[in-house]
Amino acid sequence: MTSSVSPRPSGDDPPSTTAGGASSASFVLSGCHVLTLNPQRDEYASGYVAVDGTQITEAGPGPVPERLAGARQIDASGCLATPGLVNTHHHLYQWATRGRAVDATLFGWLTELYPVWARIDAEIVRAASTAALTWLARSGCTTTMDHHYVFPRAGGDVLGATVESAAEVGLRFHPTRGSMDLGESTGGLPPDDVVEHIDAVIGATQAAIERFHDPSPGSMLRIGVAPCSPFSVTRELLTESAALARSSGVRLHTHLAETADEDDYCAEHFGCTPAEYLDSLGWLGGDVWLAHCVHLDDAGIARLAATGTGVAHCPDSNARLGAGICRTRALLDAGVPVGLGVDGAASNEASSLLGEVSAAARFARAVGGPQAMTAAEALELGTLGGARLLGREAEIGSLEAGKLADIALWRLDRLPQAGIADPVAALVLGPPPPLELLLVNGQVVVERDRVVTVDEQRVAESARRAGEVLAVLARGGRCWPRGDDPPRPPRVPSARADRWPAVAAGPAFGQDPAFCCHPLGPTFGRPSRLARLRRILAPADAGGPGPE
Ligand SMILES: [Zn+2]
Repeated sequence: MTSSVSPRPSGDDPPSTTAGGASSASFVLSGCHVLTLNPQRDEYASGYVAVDGTQITEAGPGPVPERLAGARQIDASGCLATPGLVNTHHHLYQWATRGRAVDATLFGWLTELYPVWARIDAEIVRAASTAALTWLARSGCTTTMDHHYVFPRAGGDVLGATVESAAEVGLRFHPTRGSMDLGESTGGLPPDDVVEHIDAVIGATQAAIERFHDPSPGSMLRIGVAPCSPFSVTRELLTESAALARSSGVRLHTHLAETADEDDYCAEHFGCTPAEYLDSLGWLGGDVWLAHCVHLDDAGIARLAATGTGVAHCPDSNARLGAGICRTRALLDAGVPVGLGVDGAASNEASSLLGEVSAAARFARAVGGPQAMTAAEALELGTLGGARLLGREAEIGSLEAGKLADIALWRLDRLPQAGIADPVAALVLGPPPPLELLLVNGQVVVERDRVVTVDEQRVAESARRAGEVLAVLARGGRCWPRGDDPPRPPRVPSARADRWPAVAAGPAFGQDPAFCCHPLGPTFGRPSRLARLRRILAPADAGGPGPE
């Protein structure tokens, strides 16, 4: 690349393919290896990609054609151009609870973290989401979903916070309004104080669709409906959620068949497998995608294929939790649509979408041999596959005329990658290369491996503080009016988790930001105050993961 990589497109111009087949462009990336993932799966050792406004107008081999001579030429030699990656499963808020329960199974991990998540609020979610989205962008992601299912009563507008974060970072966003209504007292896994009433869920989900969903072509924001899982949601809520999604014309998502524990739970409570359970509720269909699906039997795979139900494969999260390895080869051979997801950052501290592309290829080969998945096939799962799960395959996921200008440009001429014969293998199986440029809707989000839409250091600091204060809140910490003595920490015995001893104390931060010790509020940032709070809240039997 030459001195300035930024095309700085206007982003407002309409596509401009002319009747004669010639096209115009505001800029052209030239001299790069191009993996198009177009219907012919064309790959050009040296080619170009032309962009006009929000759309790709051409991608082809060789030098830039004369008809595009008027467009700004951007030398992309030494780089590989791919479609922007599409993330199909995430929980952005979990960025604030990374590094907890690192050796636990899914059910153990959830049991430890549910009470902590019960203390999130809009500011914590905003800080965590912005960090998670910023890091996603750095890993080549241009479109992401989010599955948010924890809505504390005093938490404020947490879904709105994720939407604002995505707009700030500049990613195409498919948030889902999640839910849990099956608490511990009625046979579910989550504690009762993090679940909602079914009527509240349906009302809030309907409101979220009306407030945020943009079905127009090129949309940057589309809502989905996503009750959490068979072990945290009632049969009634699963059924009503599907009805609401279908009557509203939005897509439907949940976790399924993630662990052997879930198989046991479904056998005990429903007398069938997780896939059979969802099938019995009329859930499966081409408008549905399911996270994980590690423990599907042949019959389950056949039902997903027959119904067009998609799978969000999250290999690193499955490995981190010891859940197993998804049967991706069998799913693909059966014709099941498969995309990739990083899953929440609390079950996958990396949260790198390029990392998931690599893991998908390596895990498939580890269990199925070296031909179980090619590098290009793994990249296709992370692009076109994800686009299909989100219902956007006509707009994103490949580099071809008429698609939205969501493009990743990877630099492959530096020490770790230079000289690797196959650039796609270098990207998928080699070390993560620098991201020279990331365009979303024709706009620059990453330039020379730095996100340009936000201040990365400020984002990191806010996320760190959000994580610290969430830990304090989970231990029963609360704010106090400015000038008053701090309150004594509550002494509430916990029946659930000895590592979070005061989680039953209830939400405790103040509602008036002028008097709030919230991490992102006016008083919390003072180190002496934080140090004081930490001292006060340190339990006598400190053995848990409280604020360090
Ligand atoms: Zn998940």
